[in-house]
Amino acid sequence: MELLRSWAEVNLAAVQQNLAAVRNHIPATTRIMGVVKANAYGHGAARIAEAIVDGVDAFGVANATEAHEVARHAKGKPVYLLGIVLPSERADVIASDFIPPISSLEEAAAYSALASGKKAKIFVSIDTGMGRMGVWQDDAKEEINKITQLPDIEFTGISSHLPVADEDDAFTREQLARFHAIAGEIRDSVAPHALIHIENSAGLIGFPEYIGSMVRPGLMLYGVSPRPEFESRLTPALTWKTRVILVREVEAGRTISYGRAFTTDRSMRIATLAAGYADGYPRQVSGKGAYVLIHGQRCPVLGRITMDQTMVDVTHLPKVSSSDEVVLLGSQGSETISAHTLGQWAGTIAWHILTGITGRVTRVYTGISD
Ligand SMILES: *Cc1c(COP(=O)(O)O)cnc(C)c1O
Repeated sequence: MELLRSWAEVNLAAVQQNLAAVRNHIPATTRIMGVVKANAYGHGAARIAEAIVDGVDAFGVANATEAHEVARHAKGKPVYLLGIVLPSERADVIASDFIPPISSLEEAAAYSALASGKKAKIFVSIDTGMGRMGVWQDDAKEEINKITQLPDIEFTGISSHLPVADEDDAFTREQLARFHAIAGEIRDSVAPHALIHIENSAGLIGFPEYIGSMVRPGLMLYGVSPRPEFESRLTPALTWKTRVILVREVEAGRTISYGRAFTTDRSMRIATLAAGYADGYPRQVSGKGAYVLIHGQRCPVLGRITMDQTMVDVTHLPKVSSSDEVVLLGSQGSETISAHTLGQWAGTIAWHILTGITGRVTRVYTGISD
């Protein structure tokens, strides 16, 4: 059998368990939008959508291209677009029954005009501090009042987004209270059936008292908690692996990789691995104390990550040889490298690490039989 060189094992049963952990954390009547944007955070949108479709009430994606892929596995459940739609994409969005976010009366009117007889489903985003899209909070009541009066619009709900739900609890609590006051007033006066949703993973973990009628978990479905208090209830679904492709004994004074940033200060055993930054392994971890796992042991990264290969120190592992498995992210033996840890080494966040795993990395699914 041909061996894979760089691959991600995705445990679909773990994703289902993580969804169950979300379900158990929120009231039974609260809906769940499973956020599967960016190829389900690098895990593979089609297989993740299939695995969770029976446990979610809706799906969330970034754009219409992603929505078309997910809709094939959604069993008719609504597919929400979380990113702003281009004017040229609107007709397809309406025809496909995707639910786009609205940032202004003009945008809603454009959907109404295009819908011609069919009801265009929309939801309105309120800017309560994210500054990315939506109607500014002070104008929300008036704008939404007008939007609900447009013909050919089906107003499904009111949303907002939390910019600091894992960084600033005081702001987040105040923001949530403010949003629910505005959204509740709108629902009571003009939109009794509106779904009210604001909470991402960090929001629903940290602030269950502000849950609204639907939550939008992403990261936590993949087993990575943005807040430490929920970590023990989640199982990371993805293990990223590569292989040793060469082992060499080198003497002191050799330089390793581009920039010659690392010089051996003694004789060392060095393994070259079959993955680099073109696989998504961040080049920024060079010189930051990063390590990989081989034979269950930590092996420090040496010198700069190159496009296709990475060198690590295996001086302490006399039995390492070509084709041995290496864990770049995940667990091996009793050691674990989390997406947070790899993100810290790279000066970035877990979301960026997972979505940065490139197409060269084969996704292999475990945990559910085909
Ligand atoms: C990505 C996204 C989410 C999910 O966020 P996580 O932090 O991954 O849970 C929820 N809502 C919106 C609008 C998003 O863009």
